[in-house]
Amino acid sequence: MSRVYNFSAGPAVLPEEVLKAAAEEMLDYQGSGMSVMEMSHRSKVYDGIIKTAEQDLRDLMKIPDNYKVLFLQGGASQQFAMIPMNLMKNKVADYIVTGQWAKKAWQEASKYGKANKIASSEDKTFSYIPDCSDLPISDDADYVYICENNTIYGTKYKELPNTKGKTLVADVSSCFLSEPVDVEKYGVIYGGVQKNIGPAGVVIVIIREDLITEDVLEGTPTMLQYKTHADADSLYNTPPAYGIYICGKVFQWLKKMGGLEAMKKHNEEKAKILYDFLDGSKLFKGTVVPKDRSLMNVPFITGDAELDAKFVKEAEAAGFVNLKGHRSVGGMRASIYNAMPKEGVEKLVDFMKKFEEENA
Ligand SMILES: *Cc1c(COP(=O)(O)O)cnc(C)c1O
Repeated sequence: MSRVYNFSAGPAVLPEEVLKAAAEEMLDYQGSGMSVMEMSHRSKVYDGIIKTAEQDLRDLMKIPDNYKVLFLQGGASQQFAMIPMNLMKNKVADYIVTGQWAKKAWQEASKYGKANKIASSEDKTFSYIPDCSDLPISDDADYVYICENNTIYGTKYKELPNTKGKTLVADVSSCFLSEPVDVEKYGVIYGGVQKNIGPAGVVIVIIREDLITEDVLEGTPTMLQYKTHADADSLYNTPPAYGIYICGKVFQWLKKMGGLEAMKKHNEEKAKILYDFLDGSKLFKGTVVPKDRSLMNVPFITGDAELDAKFVKEAEAAGFVNLKGHRSVGGMRASIYNAMPKEGVEKLVDFMKKFEEENA
């Protein structure tokens, strides 16, 4: 067996310890005589798994009691529709467009009501976060929407927008559990788990209880109503049971690692190694305005598409995989999520130094 350093943006690297534990429990989960994949989601043993996972997430994020935690399906993309269908009471919402995912969410919301694009960074290929201190928030906006960490472009809000009292909704798919958050500043926090938490197929929605109502857009399917899942503690129908089990294991791993403060420190150290190298390099350069740099996704270029391709190819041969940038931007991107060890980043930088010398 040999494992590579996987810099994929998602699905992405998971803690080796978690994968090993899951392998050990594959045939017989804690004396149940079966795999978690094979058990009823209504069984007592599975109830223990999902309840423990929720409690561990609540502990990690210090989620207040007036917020529900939902484990849903359909990926982050399904939330692009669920959010307007459930929250657009006035049929108005304000969107800040800082990348492809925010843009898709904005376009989807436009199907259900008036979705205003109140700020954007598209003018400079989404390489920065716009000033959000005094935006033209609509008086009747049901919510203000952001994508907090832009996976493709490598930007992150270092300060949340001033929503002027409106409910903040945030897609945190690629920065979920990477640092502490103040949940009370949000109405909804959601993310697909395949970036930083677990296997694709699970999306976690943390939603303030007063936002969960029966007053949804006419025709909203039962399965797309938050109330359906909140009332049933995420067990309205068969949940993505195995995926939730792995998420639970990652939550336990995060607790063991010292929680989100410790993760933030670990992530800052890792990102600094890479950004410091990029800032001093003659060959490589980062593409994001320094103050808006993500700790999770680090895009960089040489400025020469052929050299970029050569780098990606040679890196792969050396065991550093999935470094190719998103097809919409080109270049390279190293995603260095929670489970990427510091050693992986150090070795990548050593490899980049060597490549720089050889291609000077
Ligand atoms: C990956 C990603 C998505 C899309 O996730 P799916 O689960 O594939 O729908 C949405 N938003 C962000 C920020 C992402 O990184």
